[in-house]
Amino acid sequence: MYVGRFAPTTSGPLHLGSLLAAVASYLDARAHDGQWLLRLDDIDEQRATADAEQIALATLKHHGLSWDGLISRQVHNRDRYWNAIDTLRSRGLTFYCTCSRKKLRNESTYPGYCRTRHEKPNVPASIRVLVPDIEFSFTDRIQGSVRGNLADQEGDFIVLRKESIVSYPLAVVIDDDVTGVTDVVRGADLLESTLAQIFLIRTLNLSEQRYAHIPVLNQRDGVKLSKRDRAFAIDNRTPVLNLVSALHMLGLNPPSKYKDVHKLLAWATEQWDIRSVPKGRSILDFMSI
Ligand SMILES: [Zn+2]
Repeated sequence: MYVGRFAPTTSGPLHLGSLLAAVASYLDARAHDGQWLLRLDDIDEQRATADAEQIALATLKHHGLSWDGLISRQVHNRDRYWNAIDTLRSRGLTFYCTCSRKKLRNESTYPGYCRTRHEKPNVPASIRVLVPDIEFSFTDRIQGSVRGNLADQEGDFIVLRKESIVSYPLAVVIDDDVTGVTDVVRGADLLESTLAQIFLIRTLNLSEQRYAHIPVLNQRDGVKLSKRDRAFAIDNRTPVLNLVSALHMLGLNPPSKYKDVHKLLAWATEQWDIRSVPKGRSILDFMSI
């Protein structure tokens, strides 16, 4: 049974790039007669807002993207995250890091300064996990074979930030395991996180997912569209137009006769072929659409 999901962070309104990820994961799930779950990535409570959450839900509804079951929330998994960190710690796989951002500013990978600090210090510290110097690989359904060595790419990565916020790779492997997610379709900006996730999944004996990373939308200057770019928040008054744009970017060519989001999505589900999604990690020319 295919179980997919869309997991927006609730720190701002959805932008066109998030709609693209929502539509791709929705179509892939529906084309597999699978479930499509919605999870609100609200672990960063300082940035998550109820307003942004309501706007995100309204945007999905306006675009006909209806999810299955109840909405899940990262804040509900907090105990599981702590248990996972405890498991890593009990196996001697973590250490406390007191390095400042400034100290690490010029480092491309974590240089291991605090690797022997196993006792909690009296100053704020993050928790990092020791990564092995071995190559991991996986097959991405869009990007093909991806391989890399975590030790070379980022070094010992953070699982708990100084502010006691669980890091994305740790949270997401627990979230996906708890809800039985089999397939992750998301933006290629998260491709870098996948090796860390696979390492955590195997270390914590969690369920592994298949991945498909769609290209992210960049502005013409190559800068990724982010939630800070409020100008690119989705206009809920033009859902058909927005969906048509998203479908074009996903390699489909919707006929102009559909004026209703549900009919348009039904058509797109029939036509969906992940092999038509452009390969590569970004789409640069969205301004022309
Ligand atoms: Zn350190």
